[in-house]
Amino acid sequence: MIAARAFAGKTVAVFGLARTGLGAIRALVAGGAMVIAWDDNAAARDLGSREGAQIMPWREWPWEMIAALVLSPGVPLTHPKPHGVVEHATAARVPVIGDVELFAREVQGKAPVIAITGTNGKSTTTALVGHILNACGFDAQIGGNIGKSVLELAPPPSSNKNGAKTIYVLEMSSFQIDLAPGLAPDVGVLSNLSPDHIDRHGTMQNYAAIKARLMRQTAETGQVVVGVDDAYSSAIFTQLSAAGVQAHPVSVGKVLGRGIFVVDGALYDAMGARAVKIMEMGAAVHLPGAHNWQNAALAYGAVRPYVSDTKAIAAAIASFPGLAHRMEDVGRIGKVQFINDSKATNADATARALAVYPDIFWIAGGKPKEGGIESLGGFFPRIRKAYLIGEAAPQFARTLDGKALYEMSATLDVAVASAARDAAASLSSAPVVLLSPACASYDQFKDFEQRGDVFRDLVARLPREHTARVAS
Ligand code: ADP
Repeated sequence: MIAARAFAGKTVAVFGLARTGLGAIRALVAGGAMVIAWDDNAAARDLGSREGAQIMPWREWPWEMIAALVLSPGVPLTHPKPHGVVEHATAARVPVIGDVELFAREVQGKAPVIAITGTNGKSTTTALVGHILNACGFDAQIGGNIGKSVLELAPPPSSNKNGAKTIYVLEMSSFQIDLAPGLAPDVGVLSNLSPDHIDRHGTMQNYAAIKARLMRQTAETGQVVVGVDDAYSSAIFTQLSAAGVQAHPVSVGKVLGRGIFVVDGALYDAMGARAVKIMEMGAAVHLPGAHNWQNAALAYGAVRPYVSDTKAIAAAIASFPGLAHRMEDVGRIGKVQFINDSKATNADATARALAVYPDIFWIAGGKPKEGGIESLGGFFPRIRKAYLIGEAAPQFARTLDGKALYEMSATLDVAVASAARDAAASLSSAPVVLLSPACASYDQFKDFEQRGDVFRDLVARLPREHTARVAS
């Protein structure tokens, strides 16, 4: 745990007592601050009290004594409208910050910080950067919007300590950036931008501006790595370059005069005077698809300031084990491969998976998102059959009607059994049973992780006899 000493001897208010809020109380108390806290949920309040906070309804808080309000990233800061506690803090001129701001004040200047944001690919890029750094002899402390909260990470080592050099690798959501005005990473990474979370940010322009702000906040001697394959990120890259920030563009599909790019399935480093081929992306078996090549190229750019051995970086990218629930290979029975892409909760994410496999037995559905699967029409010729589950099933069936075979499986267990049977009996030499729902999970599961775990278990329990038949 990192002790937050910036408010030693002062009173800090914490609102929202989920994981980050509780972590903030622990860090503030350890750093010598007094903490008052509130959450609408009684069980959360108990946990806050156990961490050493004084529990008090927020309407009774003594604002004149409060040095800062630490807000959970889940509480509306600006849109659709600021939460009442934010309005009170603003009126009392109390700064509203998040746990990442406490982290920044404690850690910056003591160890390098790499911060990764964007609409898609954040978790994969963050985990990959951590994996490469660990493989190259560093102690990568990975957290933020993935795994541990930032204050749960190990503190920066004191300067006289020997051992692996610590580098913090943080996945940052736009909500966290909003609450961390002082975060100035040594390396900022922006993967891509497309409309998402607009309800919480008002407009696409505002959403893009928040991501851009983190890039602009990069430390004076720092650098940024920016995917330039969409119009929003590309515009941000141009602005940063014009402002004199050391900015490296990343593209999949375009040869860049300067930067990092993937063309014809190979990764090139053109940050220097000429383009040098680093690796064939086919060697990274757990990073399939052009979207993952973008993640790999971004990660390459992020670690380059710290690792000069480009062969070691390539070897680490190739050995990346992948993340659970993101096109995770969960096994093979005979010729049938089973892929868990439960994290694909919208059509855009599912499109990336459908683009990778030619013969797909597709399990889709759940709690539908706006637009459904209309945008996926171009991939329907790859779908041998769809197995529809959850609330979205009737809507998806209407979209697929006459364009691809489908069955109404209703539940995941039925879908897995049918898809496995059909794939094994098909003429395809490399059929794939793909769970890539293009939907949220909440109608039938707690979250996308539980949905993916159930899928993995169902696959593990499938009869293996056709493996033997194929082998004999
Ligand atoms: P995030 O943390 O930003 O949500 P993840 O790495 O968890 O991103 O990936 C979430 C989903 O988005 C995955 O299912 C994958 O199919 C898709 N995805 C991953 N990387 C990219 C990318 N660079 N561009 C577009 N889609 C991506």
